[in-house]
Amino acid sequence: MTGAGRPGPARLGPALERVRTRIAAAEAAAGRPPGSVTLVAVSKTWPASDVVQTARFGIVELAENRAEEAVTKTAEVAAAGVSGLVWRFVGQVQTRRAPAVVGCCDVVESVDRVRLVQALEKACDRLDRRLDVLLQVDLDGSDPGRGGADPADLPALAEAVAGAGRLRLSGLMAVAPRGADPARAFDRLAVLHGRLLDDHPDATTLSAGMSGDLEQAVAAGATHVRVGSAIFGGRPPVSG
Ligand SMILES: *Cc1c(COP(=O)(O)O)cnc(C)c1O
Repeated sequence: MTGAGRPGPARLGPALERVRTRIAAAEAAAGRPPGSVTLVAVSKTWPASDVVQTARFGIVELAENRAEEAVTKTAEVAAAGVSGLVWRFVGQVQTRRAPAVVGCCDVVESVDRVRLVQALEKACDRLDRRLDVLLQVDLDGSDPGRGGADPADLPALAEAVAGAGRLRLSGLMAVAPRGADPARAFDRLAVLHGRLLDDHPDATTLSAGMSGDLEQAVAAGATHVRVGSAIFGGRPPVSG
């Protein structure tokens, strides 16, 4: 995936078509209804102009993983006259960045600690708004840099969100561990999601699967797949 280079705006349409075809095939293979999986385009590192292009091709759901970039890009896209998008934050949120994230995003998928729940609630209070959140699950344990809560901590974290008046618990999010079999990781995630649903029946969202493993995620029941490089092209190596 890396080094694939940037497709350029003219190629975003065909790239999106290929991803949509993959999702449709995965839905069919899993015996799931067509259109049951939502494609979230992860636009991190790519310019607002690319988001404007994908919007022309019908993409409504976008995701970002850095607060500053999200603040800037959402404003640029709005200034370009594109409205009605749903911005999802999928990166680690420092508590001091919670106000910035709440100010520009509609959903935070990466809630992994009670302190962050409190910071998001406070930021929502100040802006007098509500926020959909997903709990991010750490399926790995050996890679703390990627964020996520220990599965054992999910019930308490879910209670914290349920008790926060401004937040709505929408479901779970996870990234498959590097080097592991994604099918097994996502099956485990689906079990955790089932348990969450026992206590929080409205938490129906399961955000899993990226460019390299969306088929396995759809097979395991993902409702949202987060796809970056297969749409926009390979990202330069992340620094800092
Ligand atoms: C970057 C990112 C994605 C998309 O990854 P690709 O492999 O480019 O599709 C999905 N989820 C999260 C949390 C990400 O940071």
